[in-house]
Amino acid sequence: MELQEYLRRLPQMDRFLSHPLFASVGRDGRLKEAAACELERLRDLLRRDEITQAQQLYRIDDAAQMEEILVRRTLMRLQEMERHGLRRVINGTGVALHTNLGRAPLAKEAVEAVQVAAGYSNLEYDLETGARGSRGSHIEPLLCRQFGCEDALAVNNNAAAILLALRAAAKGGEVLLSRGELVEIGDGFRIPEILAESGAVLVEVGTTNRTHLRDYLDAVTPRTAAILKVHTSNFKVVGFTSEVSVRELAAAATEKGLPLIVDLGSGAALPAQEYPFDGEPSVQQALADGADIVCFSGDKLLGGPQAGILLGKKRWMEPMRRCPLTRALRLDKLSIAALAATLELYGREGAAKTSLPVLESVCASEETLLRRAKRLQELVYAKTDRYQAELVRRKRPVGGGSAPGQLLDGWAVSFQAEGISAVELEQALRQGSVPVIGYLADKRFFLDVATIREEELEETACQLAQIQPKKS
Ligand SMILES: *Cc1c(COP(=O)(O)O)cnc(C)c1O
Repeated sequence: MELQEYLRRLPQMDRFLSHPLFASVGRDGRLKEAAACELERLRDLLRRDEITQAQQLYRIDDAAQMEEILVRRTLMRLQEMERHGLRRVINGTGVALHTNLGRAPLAKEAVEAVQVAAGYSNLEYDLETGARGSRGSHIEPLLCRQFGCEDALAVNNNAAAILLALRAAAKGGEVLLSRGELVEIGDGFRIPEILAESGAVLVEVGTTNRTHLRDYLDAVTPRTAAILKVHTSNFKVVGFTSEVSVRELAAAATEKGLPLIVDLGSGAALPAQEYPFDGEPSVQQALADGADIVCFSGDKLLGGPQAGILLGKKRWMEPMRRCPLTRALRLDKLSIAALAATLELYGREGAAKTSLPVLESVCASEETLLRRAKRLQELVYAKTDRYQAELVRRKRPVGGGSAPGQLLDGWAVSFQAEGISAVELEQALRQGSVPVIGYLADKRFFLDVATIREEELEETACQLAQIQPKKS
C-alpha cells in the first residue's frame, strides 16, 4: 500500500475523540493533547517510511485494530500526563548520595516507621498517662545515647540547624569563622548568608589557605558570641594549608567562655575506620574533642531522612529549645519516625552497615560489585541479544558533599547496541516506565551497580530489553 493511503487511514481528530472508550475520561483539552501526540507519532513513523514498525506497533493494515490501539495508547499517555509527584528511579550512577535523586534512600525499617507515622500515632501523646507528650521524646534520647552527649535536638535540615544554633547562641553578637570556611554548599546555600540571617555578625579570621589559633584569639572582643567551624564538605584546599583543630578551638573557646559550634556537614556516625575513605570528621570525635554544639544532616552519610541534627551541651542547647524559630524549623512526623528507626539501626551492633542503603553502597566490596555487575550482564543477555554488555572497573564519588576529591573502587556495565547511540540509550532508559539513570563517559553508556540494589537488577534488565533501537 502507498504511504499516502496509510496516512489517509488515520482517524480524523473529532471522530477519534468521540470513541466510546473516551467517554469516562472527559473530553477536555488534555485528552485532545494526548490524542494529537499519539496520532502524530504514528504519522511520523509513516512519513519516515517505517512501515514494518508501524505495522508491528499499530496494526495499520486493519483500520479497526489500528484505531483500538491508538485509543489505548492515548489513554495510557493521558494517565502519564496526569501522574504527579515523585517517581521511583533506579540509580545507576554509582553516586550513593545523589543530590538530584533524593540523597539517602531510607532503610526498610525507616520506611515501615513512616507508614506507622502516616496514620494516627502517639506523636505528642503519652500513652502511659494519657496526657500530652513531646515529639522530641521519640528522637532525643536515642541521639543522646548513640552519641553520648548531654542534649540533642532534630530540626528540618542542617541549614536550619546552623541557623538555629547561631540565632540562639549569637544573635546580635559576633561569630568568628576562618576565611577558609566561608563556603557555599550547593543550591545557593552560603554560610556567610545564613550567618547574616541568624542576626549574628560575621568576623572573618585567617586566610583562605591558612588559619592559626592566634587569628581566632586576636579577633575575640567583648562582642564575640561564638566560634564557628564549618567542614569544607564539597571541595579540598591542598598545598600550603593549615587549619585549627576542633580540640584546639574548643580549649580556646572554653577559656573565653564562648560556645564552639561545629558544622560537620555529612555526619559520620560510625568510627572513622569503618568507612572506605578518610577525612570525614566523626560526630563522636568532634564531641569528644570538646565541641559545644555539633550539627549535621540526617540524609547524608547517616543514611536517614532529611533532618538537621544538633548535639551538645545542655547549657548551649537549652536556649535553642526556647527560640521561637524552633517551632518554624521543627521536624515533621514522617521524618521523626524515619529518623528514630535509622538511629535504632545504629544502636544495634553491625546493623547500620547492612541495613542502611547508603552505607551498604558506599562500603560494598569490589567482589560484591563485580558479582552484581556480572548478574546484571547475565540478566540482560537472558532477555535480549541486542546489547554488548561489558564489565568495566569504574571509580565513583560518594556524593552529597562527603569525602570530596576521593573516589571509591567499583564496577559498572557498559551497554552498546546496534542502531542506538549511547546518548539515545541514556535518554530512552531515563524515559522508560521505571526510569533508569545511568551516565555517559568516553562516548559510552554505563550503569554503575554500586547504587542498584540486588532486587532491582531484574527490573533494570527488563527496562533495557524494552528499548527499541531506531532503524538506520
Ligand atoms: C550539606 C551541608 C549543609 C546543608 O545541609 P542540609 O541538610 O542540606 O540543609 C550544611 N553544611 C555543610 C558543611 C554541608 O555539607
